[in-house]
Amino acid sequence: MKLDMASQSALLRLSEVDMAIAHIKQEITKAIESPELVELRNRQSDLAGELIAARTVVENFSSAQHRADDDLHLVEERIAKDKDRLAQTSSPKDAQGLQSEIESLQRRQSDLEDAELELLAELEKANVVLADVTLRKSENSLALEALQESIQMHIDELKTKGRKLTADREILIGKITEEVLKKYSALAARQVAVGQIENRSCTACRMGLTANVIDSINALADDELGICPECQAFIVR
Ligand SMILES: [Zn+2]
Repeated sequence: MKLDMASQSALLRLSEVDMAIAHIKQEITKAIESPELVELRNRQSDLAGELIAARTVVENFSSAQHRADDDLHLVEERIAKDKDRLAQTSSPKDAQGLQSEIESLQRRQSDLEDAELELLAELEKANVVLADVTLRKSENSLALEALQESIQMHIDELKTKGRKLTADREILIGKITEEVLKKYSALAARQVAVGQIENRSCTACRMGLTANVIDSINALADDELGICPECQAFIVR
């Protein structure tokens, strides 16, 4: 296949540019699928679940404590009323009844006080857990944001490089004949499409070439493209 010398070097450069573009695409995919990012995102959603659970525990203990407190106030009011009535009654029988009711209410008061203290202790523990989860979630959130930002910066840099290479590509394509480009595209879809002979090897496939092959490639006219017998890549001299 014929291609003038200047276009042959454009063809070699096109192959390099296309490989660089492919590499950039891989790097962008790798950056988006960063395992560290996936881990931080998973942890963030786990922590969101933990936070809801911790809040629910706090709310439950808190409302149980308020209920116990209301019950306690009710009992205290009844004790106070009974004491008033006891002070006012003149009937020994009523006094005895009130006295026994007051004693029973006082036992209930003591039980409620114990229960409320226990609930307060549980509430305090639940609040410690909630504070801990809240802190861990906000720390993870900061780490996630920082990583997302640095990944985005890296991707932006890669995209800028990619755009420059794409612009170069357009210029290079203009220098190569359609016939060569068509074959190049077919080759480039599955392998390194253009090589040179270096250290008696094809740079496209790294295979060693015989002296006969090298001689026959060197004997081609200047505007004739060589072909590697091992990988079929174009050989540019
Ligand atoms: Zn080769």
